[in-house]
Amino acid sequence: MPALLLPMPLPYPSLKPCPCGSGRSYGACCGPLHRGEREAATPEELMRSRYSAYALRDTAYVR
Ligand SMILES: [Zn+2]
Repeated sequence: MPALLLPMPLPYPSLKPCPCGSGRSYGACCGPLHRGEREAATPEELMRSRYSAYALRDTAYVR
């Protein structure tokens, strides 16, 4: 079993542009959703947060 593989490593800087492509910073966009600090207000926001979580995990795996 690959016990070292975490489901979502997120050392992503809040000030960088969000990977979901919204144009906002990660800290003002999907960051709070990923940390469970708030819920998505719209279905689109939920879609974006899922996409960016996937994108972040991808970049973590690639390195
Ligand atoms: Zn986002």
